[in-house]
Amino acid sequence: MERSEIIIGGDTAGIEWRVPVFRFKGSDSAAPSAYIQAALHANELPGTALLHFLLERLQKAEADGAIHGDIAVVPQANPIGLAQYHFGEMEGRFDLGSRTNFNRDFPLVALAGRDTLLDKFESRSAADRLKRTLLHTALGADLVLDLHCDDESLQYAYIDDAFWPEAADLASALDMEAVFLSDGESTAFEEAVGHAFKRQGGDKLKSVPGRLAVTVELRGRRDVYPDMARRDADGLWAFLAGRGVVADPAHEAKPYAGPAVPLDNIEMVKAPEPGTVLFHRDIGDEVKAGDLIATLIVRPGEPGGTLAVTAGHDGLIATRCSARYARRGDDLMKIACREATRKDRKPGTLED
Ligand SMILES: [Zn+2]
Repeated sequence: MERSEIIIGGDTAGIEWRVPVFRFKGSDSAAPSAYIQAALHANELPGTALLHFLLERLQKAEADGAIHGDIAVVPQANPIGLAQYHFGEMEGRFDLGSRTNFNRDFPLVALAGRDTLLDKFESRSAADRLKRTLLHTALGADLVLDLHCDDESLQYAYIDDAFWPEAADLASALDMEAVFLSDGESTAFEEAVGHAFKRQGGDKLKSVPGRLAVTVELRGRRDVYPDMARRDADGLWAFLAGRGVVADPAHEAKPYAGPAVPLDNIEMVKAPEPGTVLFHRDIGDEVKAGDLIATLIVRPGEPGGTLAVTAGHDGLIATRCSARYARRGDDLMKIACREATRKDRKPGTLED
């Protein structure tokens, strides 16, 4: 294992950010290569815990000669966000200096244009340089996994149609409870990787066998536990074994049995009025259209001061917000439905 650091000078004097990168050299140049990062949203730590244990396992595998493809691992991808404590809370999702989401505004380039990501590098902001360096590193691999988490959540992933159903092996290896099939044309990290993979010269490809760009949502933000992280590390190891990146004679592929639904089928349940949230249903529950899922206490103590929130469609509750006060329009839940829930959605990510 080789440990190096991405070093990014800060936007103010006296600051320097360091991002450790762990690399394993594969023994077989024909084997697929992998890039895995976690905590690009710095406050989403289940992936960091997973990669801590995966790195242990990869080091053992290296000693046993079981690493076939090149592997790069970045377990804590965003030290800028990690340092942003504001009134005692980490703001790991948005860059306080520019108010941009750390997982948006990745440059969209064709694979052949990879090196242009580093053009005019010194004149760019630290957050932009970090994004460009991570993307440049990732585009050197065939299989790219970006590990995130939701608020309160089942384990699920955003997977571009171009990589589905080949990527069902990842869903089964990690025991995912749902897959959201994305249309992959906005500017999240995974989408920038997918954009490049689909543009390898010539026309845009509809499917890209042997490659993968995926955002894995490793449950909720508080789901950081030793046993869970070890189990998830074993799942990711099984995926790498199935793809031939590592050798594991004991590996057995199993089919993915969970739902895989397009983003148009995700019902984003919003708070129609502000209020204190009383949830009646939890993540993992199957609901029917019309089922009561939450009560909002809009005017506490007053007659008629509550508002019922019901499911619009039959489906599986995949995520739930952890806050118990909702502003008008705040997202309360994502429900993975069996039918399209709206027709006006713009392609790309569900959230800002
Ligand atoms: Zn995230």
